[in-house]
Amino acid sequence: MTQAIKDKVVVITGASSGLGEATARLLSAQSAIVVLGARRTDRLQSLADEVSSSGGKALAVTTDVTNCDQVKRLVDAAVQTYGRIDVIINNAGLMPQAPLERLKVDEWNRTIDVNIKGVLYGIAAALPYMQQQKAGHIINVSSVAGHKVGPGFAVYAATKHAVRALSEGLRQEVKPYNIRTTVISPGAVATELPNSVTEPDVAEKVRKSYEIAIPADSFARAVAFAMSQPEDVDVNEILFRPTSQAL
Ligand code: NDP
Repeated sequence: MTQAIKDKVVVITGASSGLGEATARLLSAQSAIVVLGARRTDRLQSLADEVSSSGGKALAVTTDVTNCDQVKRLVDAAVQTYGRIDVIINNAGLMPQAPLERLKVDEWNRTIDVNIKGVLYGIAAALPYMQQQKAGHIINVSSVAGHKVGPGFAVYAATKHAVRALSEGLRQEVKPYNIRTTVISPGAVATELPNSVTEPDVAEKVRKSYEIAIPADSFARAVAFAMSQPEDVDVNEILFRPTSQAL
């Protein structure tokens, strides 16, 4: 067990499936306290129950990250229940890919609302506490698409580039407060993410490209690596892919 993870209060958005769920499991197995946010209450609650029944501590708070007040309520609940917030993982996200010419304007808006504004709302909720504590760690989830752009995923890539830009600005601004910042950019990881593609032909391509996807635990271990460094070591960027992923 890593001492740097034990008893840390970790807020995770998008904890009802995929990367967020795997991270909650791994960190709670290493004795972190996990505070879980997402919209699907039933899934959050059964994860929290599972953690509690194995002797861990978990709190489920139904949260839509496109609603600033709800994200604040999630972080406030962590502080009210456990006295502090050590880490926030701004992980909730969508990937509804389609060529721009298909004019999926509603999907563009939703992707921006969840992938960019949701991250900003997480920062807004956690930062005042972390400034006061003079300690904390903000982990934002970007993607290989935060480094590369290609046909069909321009909007998704734009949101993930934005997450990297925000994270770098944040990194520089929070130095006086002893706050660490990490942006993690995964390649293809096997989760429910491809289900957010609504165009059948694009969905089929994405499904094929995910045949090489690696387990969600790969992401959770990257989080644990960044968290478990000594306090004076700030791991700012992690980019990882399946060994067989070319893009
Ligand atoms: P999943 O679809 O499995 O999980 C997405 C999570 O986000 C769910 O828990 C979902 O919960 C939550 N979510 C979506 N919309 C909202 C919302 N409005 N409010 C609150 N929570 C929301 O996908 P992943 O686990 O793969 O995705 C997690 C992150 O990882 C995303 O940011 C994604 O872009 C990123 N990523 C994933 C990669 C992959 O290959 N899997 C690669 C690169 C990056 P609910 O529906 O219950 O609200």
